[in-house]
Amino acid sequence: MPAKKALHRKVQKRRTEEKKRKIPHADRASIPSSASSYAELLVFAASSGKDHSIESASFALHSLLCCASERNIALAKRLGIFVGRTIYSGTGNRSTGINDYLDKLSMFFDASGFDSSYHIFPHQIEFDVWEERQSEIGAISHPFEAGIVSGFLSAVFKDHIDVTEEGCRYFGSWSCRFITNVISPAKTLPASNASLENLIIHMRDSRETSNKISLAYDRLLLSLLSKPDFQPDAFMLMETFGQAARRICPTDKHYITKWLNIIGLGSVSVRDKFIYVQLDKSVSRMEIARLIGAFISGLLDKHPIKIEISLDKDSYRLRFER
Ligand SMILES: [Zn+2]
Repeated sequence: MPAKKALHRKVQKRRTEEKKRKIPHADRASIPSSASSYAELLVFAASSGKDHSIESASFALHSLLCCASERNIALAKRLGIFVGRTIYSGTGNRSTGINDYLDKLSMFFDASGFDSSYHIFPHQIEFDVWEERQSEIGAISHPFEAGIVSGFLSAVFKDHIDVTEEGCRYFGSWSCRFITNVISPAKTLPASNASLENLIIHMRDSRETSNKISLAYDRLLLSLLSKPDFQPDAFMLMETFGQAARRICPTDKHYITKWLNIIGLGSVSVRDKFIYVQLDKSVSRMEIARLIGAFISGLLDKHPIKIEISLDKDSYRLRFER
């Protein structure tokens, strides 16, 4: 690890400790009684714990889904802005200054399984977010997080503050750096085939260790999947992802199971000539079952592929022949 980065981490760790001492736990995730939407409930779940975490490869894939097209990038950013505003309203508007507000935004990211830090300049704010494991996928891919920072700062300053991602963990930077737009920013581009292939190589070579991104945070990102506008491009990306996986790795039982586990939306079992995917209750929606179906048809290169989707024990189950 470069010395500068190590030092930065140390400083950040100390800051985090200080923050934890100063602010009582109850304040860190005060759930408003009027939490009215699914996304709002998830914001408070994400703020309150790290009990279930998901694999970093799975989170990388879900982030890339947000970048399936220009349209999805815009939708992901809009959801992020809503989330950022919700986090602001959770602060109870009692902060004493911009540092105090930004500490609270940091806490949200900490509780979601990231590390974060910020710098305030006279005409610009930089907000850095990073996870434990770096995945160099060759894409700038966090419009959702850019939206969170933008929505939060817009609520603080009572004005629209646009934010873009300048550097990205998936693009070789040590952090994802979100900056308020004063200088001309790098543009977030839709996920390319090259970034998908890099992700697959990363998945193929990675050990099955988890990082600490919380499940609630991941589900917050995936709540986009229920939006009709988001689906067509996400389906296309998932099918392309399946095709790329087929090109790079064998399509034997081991890899099929591994890919489906990495997608991280349910549990996989193999019986006789069938593979079953049982969706987690928290994502058990027909849109998600169909999304996994798109991945499988790309992976197995069977057209038409026969996938049966049924309700089993309160959640959707897919069954297909391998
Ligand atoms: Zn990033």
